[in-house]
Amino acid sequence: MSRTPVHAAVAPQRLYAHLMGEGQPVGSWVDGRCVAGQGEEIALNDPTTGGLLLRYRDATPGAVREALASAAQGQAAWAALPARERAVALASLAERIAAQADAIARLEAWSTGKAVKGCRAQVAAVAESLRYFAGWADKVEGRVVPVPGGQLNYILREPLGVVLQIMPWNSPFYLAGWSMAPALAMGNAVLLKPSELTPLSSLVLGKLALEAGLPPGTLNVVNGLGQTVGPAAIGHPAVRKVVFVGSTGTGRRVNAAAGERPIPCLLELGGKSANIVFEDADLPAAAQAAVVAAFANTGQNCAAGSRLLVQRGIHDAFVRQVVQASAQYRIGDPLDEQSDAGPLNNLAQYRRVREMVRMGLQEGARLELGQAEEPRDQKGYYVPATILSGVNNGMRIAREEVFGPVLAVIPFDTEQEAIDIANDSEFGLAGAVWTRDVARAHRVAGAVRAGIFWINMYREMHASTPFGGYGNSGYGRGSGQEALYEYTQTKSVWLPFGQGA
Ligand code: NAD
Repeated sequence: MSRTPVHAAVAPQRLYAHLMGEGQPVGSWVDGRCVAGQGEEIALNDPTTGGLLLRYRDATPGAVREALASAAQGQAAWAALPARERAVALASLAERIAAQADAIARLEAWSTGKAVKGCRAQVAAVAESLRYFAGWADKVEGRVVPVPGGQLNYILREPLGVVLQIMPWNSPFYLAGWSMAPALAMGNAVLLKPSELTPLSSLVLGKLALEAGLPPGTLNVVNGLGQTVGPAAIGHPAVRKVVFVGSTGTGRRVNAAAGERPIPCLLELGGKSANIVFEDADLPAAAQAAVVAAFANTGQNCAAGSRLLVQRGIHDAFVRQVVQASAQYRIGDPLDEQSDAGPLNNLAQYRRVREMVRMGLQEGARLELGQAEEPRDQKGYYVPATILSGVNNGMRIAREEVFGPVLAVIPFDTEQEAIDIANDSEFGLAGAVWTRDVARAHRVAGAVRAGIFWINMYREMHASTPFGGYGNSGYGRGSGQEALYEYTQTKSVWLPFGQGA
């Protein structure tokens, strides 16, 4: 699974210069320009080889303060524009992203290890999200409340101000673009803090936003370590809300820090979603979908269907189908157009995933597909699609998020047992049911505690529909109409109205 000639041919290092301009440092995007960090050096490894990919410097707390001062000014200018003009600028940003889609997707694939095919789809989804929320910019209206007492009372929805958006490494461009679209549409500025492991593609968003007509500062991007940028930004009075996408552990810390001020949060955290297959399902379709649900983006996907619940009567035959379908799923060079998924993003995640597989086997699971141990000639952070059967829901492999290509198969007998197993989790992000029984499909959809649920499908998402979790998967909704309310605050205005007022 080493780099192919395809990879060498595209000279990915040139993509950054192409997108950002010659000689621009890898650093932060503040007030309409690239600035190098002044903190400690951060070295990133190439996921395909484990060798050095690039070095850049951490942002300092002083740089965070400068970015926030610029963001506050940018927000004032942005919110002062007629909503229609904001819509036009966001639509223009969407078209600029679409025009550079190929270069952005290849930069993302090279620097994160994500397969370029998936990166292309995610770049398109960001453009789609911006178009969708551009449409909302001038359509969120106030209302008049029929209060008793003859006064006029009306409700305005106003922007929050500067919103801090902290992102993980698994889908950096997609999650940043998806999160910022509703925030910007509602007249806020965004201070984006990408993962220190994936700093590049978010800078492109900053540059394209400026070119699309967003005032400088409306979208600033600060690249650096979580412990440097996070506390400096969350504690700053200019920040009015924190949107955090990442692990549940870090989410708790961010939530606590925001609570000190206090400012609100929107948390999109981890998952351990149940994909439930009944005996009467379209089994070939369910098997194909189970593979994509578990292994897309090499399992580095918060909504992954990482627990496959299979009714006992079809269990062995269905597991064989999933194993066969998985063998067709190509985990390979991220820049190879034929790859369905790439390596894991980083060494720490690689080690964790290998450890989780070992642990699952020690707990008594059976290896249906994959490697029990790391091969001697291992290069880069590749882990093959791994299927463990004989899992029960009490095992750690069924309870903890792996965030890698590891599918735990759990048998069940009855509908109620399937629901109970699905709900026996600290998480509640997503889930799915496969059955030809329409009534049962809706019963299960209603009974499983999860923010997103699919019937006879998996993984479909769109900016127009809410995304977010129950339980320890977080709270708040980062898309759909719900997101408009996440990024506005309500003002109630009173005025005496009766005679003689
Ligand atoms: P992480 O929690 O380690 O890091 C996320 C971000 O938090 C990074 O930008 C990091 O620098 C920052 N951070 C770290 N310490 C901080 C601090 N003290 N204050 C403020 N920020 C800090 O998560 P990760 O490993 O990058 O991402 C993987 C996790 O993200 C998985 O659990 C996955 O399920 C989750 N995720 C959730 C969703 C969702 O929508 N629910 C989407 C994608 C990923």
